Amino acid sequence: MREINVNLITQTIASLCRSTCTDLPQDVYDRLKEARAAEKGGMAQKTLDILIENADISKQKKIPICQDTGMACIWLKVGQEVHFVGGDLNEAIQQGVRQGYEEGYLRKSIVYDPVFDRVNTQDNTPAMITYEIVPGDKIEITLAPKGFGSENMSQIRMLKPSDGVEGIKSFVLNVVESAGANACPPMVIGVGIGGNFDKVALLAKQAMMAPIEAHHPDKRYADLEDELLERINQLGIGPAGFGGGTTALALHIETAPTHIAGMPVAVAICCHVSRHEKVIL
Ligand code: SF4
Repeated sequence: MREINVNLITQTIASLCRSTCTDLPQDVYDRLKEARAAEKGGMAQKTLDILIENADISKQKKIPICQDTGMACIWLKVGQEVHFVGGDLNEAIQQGVRQGYEEGYLRKSIVYDPVFDRVNTQDNTPAMITYEIVPGDKIEITLAPKGFGSENMSQIRMLKPSDGVEGIKSFVLNVVESAGANACPPMVIGVGIGGNFDKVALLAKQAMMAPIEAHHPDKRYADLEDELLERINQLGIGPAGFGGGTTALALHIETAPTHIAGMPVAVAICCHVSRHEKVIL
């Protein structure tokens, strides 16, 4: 059994909060540059130039890429041979978020009550934490500060098996079209298919954070990823909604077994500020 002190978790989370809010992942940055080179000109090219310059300044000066520094979404893959010592793991994670957002001068965006009071918790907690137990003695931490301009545009639909692949295509395209400029395009899109109501949202989020160049291992789904991305980029929404051929930078699909009577589909939308970082301890 390997012992990990929860203080290390707090320090790691605090550091991730700061770095993810200022440093766009390299693969997302590279795809923005490719998109800029592919655009014909006009507002699409100008907008992508501004987004690239914005990412450069944020990285150099260590200031947030966007004023919305998001809700801290954290995924932990915990090796079953790890024993946490030194305190409560959940509280150590929340303390890391508290510390990271304070030290990084990051905007605190969380309200305690979702409907009536809507009073800011003042420290960007609670973070949304998803745990998974895996073999081994390591712990993998992924942190994604999620802006809600794009989060608000994400959707789940419990499709029927008879809706088939055409039903999936039509749902995904409708979600992206209705998101339009509100999702701060160019978007990064994750599509979850299968599982049940709660699992399919997680699949979509995992897909959203896949490396930009990744493809589903099953060629049928990989082809569907390519087709959907192409059709999305033909919608003409373009960077910031000003028109153009870059409505999405990438689209990934994650799948899971499901029930004979259902075909859940979730579409998780992220803006061009597709912030996420992974650390293995
Ligand atoms: S959706 Fe993204 S780019 Fe738009 S305001 Fe939110 S974090 Fe910023």
